Amino acid sequence: MQSKTPYCGRLAPSPTGYLHVGHAVTFWRAQERSRARNGKLFLRIEDLDRDRCRPEFRTAILEDLEWFGFQWEAEPVLQSERRPLYLAAWKQLRDRGLIYPCTCTRRDVLGAAGAPHAEDEEPIYPGTCRPADLTIPQHENPAGVTWRFRVPGAEAMQFHDHCAGPQRSVAGAEFGDFVVWRKDDVPAYQLAVVVDDATMQITEVVRGADLLRSTFRQLLLYRALALAPPEFCHLPLIVDSLGKRLAKRDDALSLRILRAAGLSPDEIRARYLSTPPSERRGGNRR
Ligand code: GLU
Repeated sequence: MQSKTPYCGRLAPSPTGYLHVGHAVTFWRAQERSRARNGKLFLRIEDLDRDRCRPEFRTAILEDLEWFGFQWEAEPVLQSERRPLYLAAWKQLRDRGLIYPCTCTRRDVLGAAGAPHAEDEEPIYPGTCRPADLTIPQHENPAGVTWRFRVPGAEAMQFHDHCAGPQRSVAGAEFGDFVVWRKDDVPAYQLAVVVDDATMQITEVVRGADLLRSTFRQLLLYRALALAPPEFCHLPLIVDSLGKRLAKRDDALSLRILRAAGLSPDEIRARYLSTPPSERRGGNRR
């Protein structure tokens, strides 16, 4: 992967609730990495999911980020205002037969998958609606049906992560055809994030290690859309004293609540911002 200069990073919160301390410390690392490289840092509000995102959370997140000490370039970018960009990418993928409409219900997919999967991972799609060859779908627009990306079968993939070290996965075996456009006519996270990171010319994506698997999906989309991928730095998720991951749904750990409890940004950083293993040893690897 070629490094583009100057360094350009982003913070990408989803306004589905108050900002969790886990996100805040990951963002803090992102800001530190950007500052250390004299870079620019942008704020992108990932508000595509109309059912889960709320404007009051957006306002609260902006306030909390400022209170914590974040500074970003320009006005925040709102995904909800960028539909034409996502649609253009959808059309490009459609015209190359790289996506296909899928009418399976969530239950069909879950039922066919059998084994339980990791917390956030979707089951591997069994391929029920996948055309045998690269058929070009005749749809003028994506609405009304789910669209899946045709993941190549058994392709070994790898990339080097600046925090988590060398990463490998086998497309088609460890993850399957994933959703790029939802049935309710909303672009899916994987497509939107690739289009945004590319158009915003992000050079390094800094985020939590829970998105490592998604990065492989995104790398397939970069390739399919003939876009250069950024570099990646996936940070360990913060854990409690027993080593258990602090869940996002644990509202008590929102910045807002910690602030109301009288903690200052410095105290929160001292409590939750441990030095990532890679930086402790002065290297890039775990
Ligand atoms: N908006 C996503 C989240 O809050 C982050 C996406 C990303 O960093 O790629 O989990």
